[in-house]
Amino acid sequence: MFEKYDCNGKKAWVRSDLKGRQKEFCMCWDCRKFKPETEDKGCSIIKTVLSLAAEKNIVLPVWECGEFEKK
Ligand code: SF4
Repeated sequence: MFEKYDCNGKKAWVRSDLKGRQKEFCMCWDCRKFKPETEDKGCSIIKTVLSLAAEKNIVLPVWECGEFEKK
């Protein structure tokens, strides 16, 4: 089941069962490198992902990453 909702001021389609749950699935939150409060996010990979997400109005949790460092 999919639904359309307001995502950062723009309409986006989302799977209803996953809506708003990206933080649960994004491994960056368990990575030592990730600094969400800083401008560069502490990691060039996630900075690129977030820039693309903002530009294209998409949400991309990181499921796999070769540079991951467990906290
Ligand atoms: S190294 Fe990978 S898991 Fe860690 S913050 Fe960057 S993108 Fe996320």
